[in-house]
Amino acid sequence: MDIETRIKTAQGDFEYGYTDPKTKDFVPASKLKLYSLISTDDNESIRKAAYEGIQKSAPAFLDDYVEYVKLLNTFAHKLGFEDFYAYKVFTEEGMTKKELFKIFDDLYEKGKFGFENIRELAVSNPKLKQPWNFSYMISSDFEKEEDPYFQFETALDVWTKSFANLGIDFRGSTITLDLLDRKGKHSNGFCHWPELIHFENGKRIPGRSGLTCNTIPGALGSGEEGIHTLFHEGGHAAHFLNSDMQDVCVNNEYPPASTAWAETQSMFMDTIFSSIEWRHRYAKDSEGNSYPFSLFERKLEKLHVFKPLEMMGIIAVMNFEKEIFETKNLTKAKVISIARKTKNKFSAFPINSLGLLTVPHIYSWSSTCSYHGYGLALLAVAQWRSYFFKKYGYIVDNPNVGKEMLKVWKLGMSKTFPEFVQMATGKKLSPQYFLQSMIAPKKKYIQSAKNRIKTLDKVKQKNTYEIGAVINLVHGKTKIADNKKGFELMEKKYNNWFKTQK
Ligand SMILES: [Zn+2]
Repeated sequence: MDIETRIKTAQGDFEYGYTDPKTKDFVPASKLKLYSLISTDDNESIRKAAYEGIQKSAPAFLDDYVEYVKLLNTFAHKLGFEDFYAYKVFTEEGMTKKELFKIFDDLYEKGKFGFENIRELAVSNPKLKQPWNFSYMISSDFEKEEDPYFQFETALDVWTKSFANLGIDFRGSTITLDLLDRKGKHSNGFCHWPELIHFENGKRIPGRSGLTCNTIPGALGSGEEGIHTLFHEGGHAAHFLNSDMQDVCVNNEYPPASTAWAETQSMFMDTIFSSIEWRHRYAKDSEGNSYPFSLFERKLEKLHVFKPLEMMGIIAVMNFEKEIFETKNLTKAKVISIARKTKNKFSAFPINSLGLLTVPHIYSWSSTCSYHGYGLALLAVAQWRSYFFKKYGYIVDNPNVGKEMLKVWKLGMSKTFPEFVQMATGKKLSPQYFLQSMIAPKKKYIQSAKNRIKTLDKVKQKNTYEIGAVINLVHGKTKIADNKKGFELMEKKYNNWFKTQK
């Protein structure tokens, strides 16, 4: 492989593909596309081919990976750490590896009933045992049913309105949104900051941030993905663009920043978007009908047994990287064996999948050994939500929530994760809030959902799009619209252009 391909590969842009089961031709497809085929294609042989395509490509860059791990470990040893994982947890989260894994080993023990649930289901439905059927069977019917309530054309409207009603203000910063997929585009939604908040002669200079995702116009789930990205990446943007720190090095996501604290902000926004009360108010089909409660109930009925799986997926990556960086004389064969073994531990059936090798984070310096950030963030989000519910009774469209978030956002990344959690919630970081929701019975979920909708129905929603940001909508280098002449005009212009892309 030449150096450019190697870099692209390492960044996750590698062209994957699958063998068409009928024609036997190789069909190039991005990794994202393959994963989407596995969870949505109605044809089992296509799903299987996509799964096999991923398995085949997964170890393509292990030579570099082994070398990379060794270099990172050498770097960490020179700084006095036992390995790179220990270095990462300490510098990013102010924690030791031991402290970290104590929390997550315990969560694994308490959550592994999720795998037992799947094994029970597979008794009457043996197809669940095949990895190319699993995510399809648990997700596809809902994705189709939910799609009309998440139209991409409403994405800007519901996002801006929600943020404005939360009282989020970007304080004069600029946000550039590049939402549609195109050939060669990085295959992951993300947020970056080409200009950080900084001070010139004592004056605070607003920053600039860019948000991107891979919406495929007209594709199933594209609206959902678009809105979700705006909430998640918009949460990251709001966080850093609200910093008041004079030291620029704490106004971005690189060390000494805590991945966990950064993700706490974006994943907090995710929980607003995924909450039933938000959907009840904001997610509407083209006739104006709200996301149905009955759909929420049916979805819960089917998916409740899988509740621990999200956290299990995170702990799997953590365990994989921990072992990789602890292994002496690492080789390709050892990497493959650790990947299979770990995946088996975190699956209901021994599927021997190499899926862990397709997680882009493991190949990129800034995110290697940082996956626990998502796990810690889930804990902090649960803790923060519980704090807000106790204090105010509701979160969606509550400007007090934005106000309190702003208070900690102003500090950028100047504290460690445990310090920030304590500051925001008044309590020490604890897994108990997350755990409570992971093991809560169905009935409790439904009752709490009903209560939250009832509470929100009494809360007035302001008809405002004022989030204090200069917004640019682009497609690569082409500018499509901006909000110089108001939000409505920008939205109209963008949606007209979007129609031509379908
Ligand atoms: Zn994020």
